[in-house]
Parts: sequence; structure tokens; C-alpha cells
Amino acid sequence: MDLKAMHNLIEESGLPSFREKQIRKAYFSELRKDWDDVSVLSKELREKFAADVKWNDVEELRIAKTKDTIKAALKLEDGEVIEAVLIKHGDGRRTVCVSSQVGCPMRCSFCATGKGGFKRNLEIGEIIDQVLYFARILKENNEKITNIVFMGMGEPLLNYDNVMKAIRLLNDPEGFGLGARHISISTCGIVPGIQKLAKEKLQINVALSLHAPTDRLRGRLMPVNDQYNLSQVLEAIDYYIKNTNRRVMIEYLLIKDANDREEDAKNLSEVLKMRPLCYVNLIPYNETGDAYSASSRDNIKRFTDVLKANNVRFTIRHSFGDSIDAACGQLARKS
Ligand code: SAH
Repeated sequence: MDLKAMHNLIEESGLPSFREKQIRKAYFSELRKDWDDVSVLSKELREKFAADVKWNDVEELRIAKTKDTIKAALKLEDGEVIEAVLIKHGDGRRTVCVSSQVGCPMRCSFCATGKGGFKRNLEIGEIIDQVLYFARILKENNEKITNIVFMGMGEPLLNYDNVMKAIRLLNDPEGFGLGARHISISTCGIVPGIQKLAKEKLQINVALSLHAPTDRLRGRLMPVNDQYNLSQVLEAIDYYIKNTNRRVMIEYLLIKDANDREEDAKNLSEVLKMRPLCYVNLIPYNETGDAYSASSRDNIKRFTDVLKANNVRFTIRHSFGDSIDAACGQLARKS
């Protein structure tokens, strides 16, 4: 919902401000489906609001499920389509992976989202409604969202203001009320955005899609490296850590024979040795119809052996949703 439009309508119509509280409660915590469902409002008031303010800015177009993943294609008011994913972890976590843009301008060579080009930034309501969409589904089984990750389509730090405003509402106890520590932003390395994040008084998590430990290699995989090179990105991460004292996840995609060689693991270890608050999350490459393929078991073993020998902390990301193209890097603007 466009909360600002709702607020303005209340003011313009001279309605008492407790109405806004009631509506926010119905929207964020009672997870009502539409205006008709807001029983604290009279029929007249419900119709008045419905005429001016859309309850839900995303409309379910398609849904695909596996045992532990639900992917939804969601249609926006202007007909554009985004994707969002719910991941049910074995340990009880229920993570929503949300999009921040329609498409993506970054054009990373291995990612399906960038291939469809970039259309526009998402509005605050379009971000929040992806979360509420899954919250309503979970509610049917008395379950709740435990984590939100900005790892869907788009580069969140290029839609900084809307992403941060959405996060504040998702965090606000009078909004969705999810703890900031349960919210993560992943960036391909937008330096000014990372510097800004360092000054936010919010305990959210930051992940950096590094994917390569040298400029030469990173430049080949990720065009953003021409704009913000490795040392600039790492300096921004150091600044972030100095300011916040928070850990930073370094995402590292494992692509066969491209960035999974022993030498790459050594270089990555070099980069991380001096950065004890960074830890590596190794992501198995998911098929996106390009020239790359996933690292072999042997290569992964060789790679992780080097990390271990250098005392670099790492985890390997379990890949969810591959069979329905819901895994990392597979979200696209298909209609
Ligand atoms: N633009 C942000 C948010 C996207 S997060 C970012 O780049 O961090 C999606 C994550 O999946 C990123 O780490 C991205 O690099 C990774 N990814 C992209 N393509 C992938 C693929 N084919 N297989 C696995 N992970 C991929």
C-alpha cells in the first residue's frame, strides 16, 4: 500500500488520526487481504479508501512451489512483473527474498536478472507488499516470516531511499515489526551506498557480492568493477565495519574454471586475512543459460581447502528452488 497516500487521504478528509493506526494494524499485523476485510472501518469508509488507495501493490500472477520454496511472479500496477521467493529452511527459518528493482542495470555476466535489462526502481509499497504477500501465505499455517533478504531482482543500493524506507517500516514495531538483525541487503558493490549504510542507525546485515578476488577477474564477471574497483569496494566495507562493528557476508559464486581455481582461493584468502569481521558464503552457480557451469566437487574441495588452511571462515550456501528457477541469479522479467 502507498502509506503516504493513505495518510494524505485521512488528513484531507478530516478523519481522526486513530484511523491511520487502525489501518496500519490491519495491514501490517492482522495481514488483511483488502479494504473489504478491514472490519473496524464502516462500509462507507472502506469504499472511500478503496476508491483512492490500493490495498496491495503486487498482484499474484503465477506461483511455483517445491518442498521448501515458493516463487511468485507478481504483477505491478503498470503491468511490470517482478519475482519474489519464500525459502523454508529446515531449522524453521522462513526467509523472504525480495526484489528492489524491476530488472537490474548491473549486467553481471552470470546473472539472469541483468539479461532482461532494467526498467525502474520499486516503490516502497511494492517492496513491502512482496513481504506481506508471503506473510499471508504463511499465516494460513500459523507461521511467520523470520528473515527478509534483499537478494531478489535488482541492486538495492541503487534504490537506496525506497529500500531504506521500506526496511524502516518492516522493522517498526507499529509496522511489520521484524527485528533489524533479521533483515539483510546484498550489493554488487555500490560504494556510495555502502558508505551511506555505514551511517544508518539500524542493525541490518550487509552482504557483498564479491565473486572474484582480483580486479582482472572481477572486471570480467561484473561490469560494476569498472566503476568501483576492488580496493574501493573493500575500503567501503572496512569503513562500514569500523562504523558499525558488524559482520559482513562476502558472497562468492563458484563458477567452474572461472573463479574456482586454487590461485583464486589464495587471492581471496589474502583479501580476507586482514578482515576478521568478514566471512565468506560460497554460492554454487545456478544455471542461467549462459556459458558458465557450476564448480565440480573436486574444485570446491580444493578451493575450500585453501580457505581452511588460511583460517578464512566460510559457509556453503544451500541452493533452494533451482528446479523452478527461483535460485540465486535466476529471477527474471518473464511474462
Ligand atoms: N544486486 C545485489 C542483489 C542480488 S543478490 C547483489 O548483486 O548482491 C543475488 C545473489 O545471487 C548475488 O550474490 C548474485 O551475484 C548471485 N547470483 C547471480 N547469478 C547467480 C547464479 N547464476 N548462480 C548463483 N548465484 C548467482
